Amino acid sequence: MVAITGEARGAILAHAREAWPAECCGLLLGREDRIERAIPARNLAESSATRFLLDPADHIRARRSARDAGELVLGFYHSHPDSAPVPSPTDVDEASYPEAIHVIAGAGPSGRLSEIRAFRIVGGRVRAVALGGG
Ligand SMILES: [Zn+2]
Repeated sequence: MVAITGEARGAILAHAREAWPAECCGLLLGREDRIERAIPARNLAESSATRFLLDPADHIRARRSARDAGELVLGFYHSHPDSAPVPSPTDVDEASYPEAIHVIAGAGPSGRLSEIRAFRIVGGRVRAVALGGG
């Protein structure tokens, strides 16, 4: 299980709604198995409604911010503007960093962007990770 603070959860959903109908993306910072902060990044993908490409400059900036705060980059988040928060074939293909937690914000049963789920993607295999309160 991985814990996530209410603040980080709220920040991911707010970013996802703001970016709609495009996908948003960002980094997850924290300690051990606890996501404490979600740092937004630019999505550089041209077809940003269906994929994301995290701006490398934002990636570096977030890594620096984590180091300065004594935190770790635990993983990444992105959104599925109109579909369920489960990894797409593209997400699986493009997942690097096997130790990373991948958080996806997506549409819940109501169709609204209201749900977040976490996964690990290692060697093309997806494993769901339980998200607890933090
Ligand atoms: Zn995706």
